[in-house]
Amino acid sequence: MTLHHSIGRDPLEALIKGETLPDLLMARLLDPIYVSAERLAEAASDLTLAIHGNGVLVRGLLEITNICRNGCLYCGIRAGNNSVSRYCLDQQQIMDCCREAYGLGFRTIVMQGGEHPTTDPMVADIVDQITSTLPGCAVTLSLGERPHKVYEMWREAGASRYLLRHETASHYHYSSLHPTGMTLLTRLKCLESLRSLGYQVGTGMMVGSPGQDLRCLLSDLRFIRQFRPEMVGIGPFIPHPATPLGHYPAGSVDTTLRLISIIRLMLPSANIPATTALATLAPDGRRRGILAGANVVMPNISPARVRADYALYSGKACLGAEAAEGLALLADDLNLIGRSIDFSRGDFKPHAPQSFTHQS
Ligand code: SAH
Repeated sequence: MTLHHSIGRDPLEALIKGETLPDLLMARLLDPIYVSAERLAEAASDLTLAIHGNGVLVRGLLEITNICRNGCLYCGIRAGNNSVSRYCLDQQQIMDCCREAYGLGFRTIVMQGGEHPTTDPMVADIVDQITSTLPGCAVTLSLGERPHKVYEMWREAGASRYLLRHETASHYHYSSLHPTGMTLLTRLKCLESLRSLGYQVGTGMMVGSPGQDLRCLLSDLRFIRQFRPEMVGIGPFIPHPATPLGHYPAGSVDTTLRLISIIRLMLPSANIPATTALATLAPDGRRRGILAGANVVMPNISPARVRADYALYSGKACLGAEAAEGLALLADDLNLIGRSIDFSRGDFKPHAPQSFTHQS
């Protein structure tokens, strides 16, 4: 679509038709003056129901360590934060959590943690143990930037998915959120590496991180459209007082919901979680995320005694329906919006564009 043709067009109709929108129209999708939040969410939710059905996939989130060599300026478990009590679960503790989650019905374990390279071989052993002793269980890893060889070792051990948010697709903004030495280029190389190894790759960004402007968000959307990740995690930035960005305001829930809807319409088959950060900022954040087009939730399956130590930001939700032991609460919560828990593995399935029809 040329700029000339796009003036006066309804950006939502164009997006629904699968057109590649120029920045001007993308920007209008983020602006309530042009597109109401209700219209956007309704279109995304209709599409989610048509493609993914009524079930919301659950993934058990296991926070294996808060030890991290990095100093990301937004993150509560950054290396420079001396007020954190550091832990690293051992193989036995991790397997106990996995077996318990499996018993509750989970068929995806997401192992997340800080960048703690000495655990690399242990992670491979655990992935192998999960996939060989818990039939039908998928393993997703979210352990940051690692050399290709390490990603390869984990993939060979049986991990099939990897979450590594790009955080922001603007080089300048990326550098302002990270210490010297961490670059967007390295992050993008890691994402390419993961893709080349056959992982289902998840990326995404924080909404409202300090310094983020409309141009950053438009770069994020362009990057996502071009990379076509199998999973996309989008959550609001939430300040952590013991970080250099602790005095900035939190990101907007409404903008986060808009972005979930836009990305759903851009990538109908993607697995998109209603994130913990969204549920932390708004009491009904999880439900609103699903009504905006998310189809995944990730309850916490970490041992209760370490959950407070994995504080990426203030007030992080890890109890109630955000916790594995709260599955009944989660089911009730989803029931309020006519949805139910889907315990299947939920691998990425590409859908042909003609396999659904959208009623607008
Ligand atoms: N070490 C892993 C896991 C990081 S935590 C990695 O680097 O991928 C997972 C995600 O939490 C991060 O990608 C980031 O987007 C998000 N996060 C970290 N600090 C946050 C904060 N203060 N507010 C909101 N989200 C945050």
